Amino acid sequence: MAGTTLEQAYPGIPFRWRSRNWWARLTRVPPECVHLEHEFSWMATYVPDTLYLQGKASVQRRPARPEVSLCRACLLSELESELARYGGRVLAFEPDGGAFSQYFFVGTPDFSAAGLRPEVAEAIERRLQQSLGTCQGCNHPARWLWIPRVQVESLDQVGDIVTAKGQALCPAHGAQQLCEAFAAVSEANLLYVNVPYGEAGAYLWI
Ligand SMILES: [Zn+2]
Ligand SMILES: [Zn+2]
Repeated sequence: MAGTTLEQAYPGIPFRWRSRNWWARLTRVPPECVHLEHEFSWMATYVPDTLYLQGKASVQRRPARPEVSLCRACLLSELESELARYGGRVLAFEPDGGAFSQYFFVGTPDFSAAGLRPEVAEAIERRLQQSLGTCQGCNHPARWLWIPRVQVESLDQVGDIVTAKGQALCPAHGAQQLCEAFAAVSEANLLYVNVPYGEAGAYLWI
């Protein structure tokens, strides 16, 4: 099946006409939201349904929505509703706002294909299997474990991944937490952001 159109995939987002013309298609420039005409300090390449594993694309949801460039406000509105709807388990590492260029979700079965070291994959899987109780922000069952950077700075800290307290959050509050972290970053050019798929996995940054 072919991909969806822009209007079907992102009904709430206005795209720049110039980014949709034949020249843009020919040069494979992804469509941009209209706000990027004036907003240069924050943008993200949003490819919600595609997972890139060591350079190879694998589509996780069909029809896959097209790749687009979004300003922060458009990205966060897309992400917040997508993430709040995802019912699976998420271990999300808070990114280093000054250093990250990608923020992407990898499902548990894809950990090794994504290049995670076996001991890191094992540590994350263990955390994903633990019960989380209720959300810190409300009384709904928690599905997310948000790991602040003060608890785990990098994936090399396997011991910290195992012991980090983290914040247990429901999907809505997990989504809100991630969006707040992005909102706190004053400048960014994210080359890749996707959304969760499957039953469980981790949000990682590089
Ligand atoms: Zn926008
Ligand atoms: Zn909650």
